[in-house]
Amino acid sequence: MSDHETIFDKILAGEIPCHRVYEDDHVLAFLDVNPLSHGHTLVIPKQRGAFLHQLSDDAAAALGRVLPRLCRAVMQATGATAYNLLQNNGRQAHQEVMHVHFHIIPRHGADGLGVGWSAGQLDHGKAPELLAKLHRALAEDADV
Ligand code: 5GP
Repeated sequence: MSDHETIFDKILAGEIPCHRVYEDDHVLAFLDVNPLSHGHTLVIPKQRGAFLHQLSDDAAAALGRVLPRLCRAVMQATGATAYNLLQNNGRQAHQEVMHVHFHIIPRHGADGLGVGWSAGQLDHGKAPELLAKLHRALAEDADV
């Protein structure tokens, strides 16, 4: 994968310190240096890549395997009973570090995360056309 080096590569290489929460062969989790709330944790694959859709199945599976356990640990350690799992892809989606990462953001009431959610209404008449495109895209994706 030809993505550029980011600050997370330096953290993975130990060139920049982090408060490590968890590590295995494929995944590293550490405390966010600018937390939105107490316990804000980042979970990253060791495979370099800017976007989730670029990850190998193995890297993605390793993240999926460990995320629920990390969420449980963050909840237990902070006492939070609610959390957001946030994963930004692309500048328009507010991604700043171009290396895949999941934010585990425990919610303790009025804290630093605001989520705008101006929902529309699904057009049921046009849904079949969209579904056909989605099904075609899935069929053409060799990895699915
Ligand atoms: P993004 O906006 O790309 O989804 O979020 C990137 C996150 O990485 C931010 O929450 C930011 O605070 C965190 N971050 C950036 N640089 C560092 C760093 O050097 N160390 C740690 N621990 N977190 C970082």
